[in-house]
This record gives sequence, structure tokens and C-alpha cells, in this order.
Amino acid sequence: MAVTPRGTSPVPPDARPRLTVLSGPSGVGKSTVVAHMRKEHPEVWLSVSATTRTPRPGEKHGVQYFFVTDEEMDKLIANGELLEWAEFAGNRYGTPRAAVLERLEAGEPVLLEIDLQGARLVRESMPDARLVFLAPPSWEELVRRLTGRGTEPPEVIERRLAVAKIELAAESEFDETLVNTSVEDVARELLALMDVV
Ligand code: 5GP
Repeated sequence: MAVTPRGTSPVPPDARPRLTVLSGPSGVGKSTVVAHMRKEHPEVWLSVSATTRTPRPGEKHGVQYFFVTDEEMDKLIANGELLEWAEFAGNRYGTPRAAVLERLEAGEPVLLEIDLQGARLVRESMPDARLVFLAPPSWEELVRRLTGRGTEPPEVIERRLAVAKIELAAESEFDETLVNTSVEDVARELLALMDVV
């Protein structure tokens, strides 16, 4: 019987699931889709990002994000601990590298929910990653969702809309587009892309 040497993965390279990256404009509903999907399929591992943004009501350290100070973020970046990071609407967000690589090595389906700049960086560092663009049903619907959340001051919403316009134009860079008409449908389509169902 073949013995797997210590320190190497027992999963043959071609059986390793691809890293899936879900991106799209702020407010399009990425986190709602991901939360719905994980409720049904907790085996899909979602990377928890580090961010310098302040927690919204109900958000917990280590659950939605690791909430870090500017100095802590500087260190994570300087030490090469992030797979990618980006500045978004005045805050920095980054994906802890080690956890993602460990899960992929273990053969688990791994999902990142990150912004467009981060998706581009992942494309560069992990060319076989599957990039999925979550599109709003329409621009009007995206504005309605971004305005309706009611958690952000007007100047933050303005900045996010400006970013969203740029992000929408990037759809063609992605491998797949899913239109967020229904959370259930999109979650199912995403799972199918990840070969989970
Ligand atoms: P929010 O502040 O609404 O939670 O997130 C703002 C944006 O940052 C969203 O588009 C979200 O997908 C993105 N984001 C969250 N975590 C990361 C990350 O680790 N890296 C990058 N590049 N973007 C992230």
C-alpha cells in the first residue's frame, strides 16, 4: 500500500477543488447569498477576511471578519500573511493566506467573498481559481439595495456607488456571471459551479 509521506497532501493534485472567488459590486447581495448557501451546505469553507472597518451592529470578531487596527493590518501585509488585500471605500480588507491554502490542501471546497481588486490579485497568484461575478438584476436595483441598507452615512453610500459603477464594468474579466434575482437560485447555481451538489 502506498504511504503518503509526511507533509505532503494525501489528495492528488487533479482532485483538489479549485478556489472559488465570488465578487461583485458592494450591495449586490454577496454575503446574503453566501450565508444562505452555508446554512444548507456548511461543508463549504468560507474564508474570514481581516478588515480595518468598524463592525456593523451584530457583527462579531472572527465570524464576519477579523476586525483589526491599522497597525495590525500593516503587520499582516508586511509579513506576507495575506493572499490578497485591497483598499475599499476607505478601509483595508485582506484574505488570510495560510487558512485558505490549508483547506485547499485538505481537499475542501473553499470560497472567498472579496471585492474586484482582490479577485484580480487572486487571478494573478492562483490562475486556476474560478472567478464568479454576482451581478444585480439592474443598476436601479443595486442603488436601491445600497441606499436601503440604512447602515452607512450618505458619503459612504456615494463612494460605494462610484466603486460599484467601475465594478460592474469588469464583469467580462470573470469566468462566470450569476444574476442575483433570487438568493435561493443563485446559491444553488454557485454550489453547482463548485461541484458541491
Ligand atoms: P463590507 O464592508 O460591505 O463588509 O465589504 C466591502 C467590500 O469588501 C465587499 O465588496 C467585500 O466583498 C469586500 N471584501 C471583504 N473581504 C475582503 C477581502 O479579504 N479582500 C478584498 N479584496 N475584499 C474584501
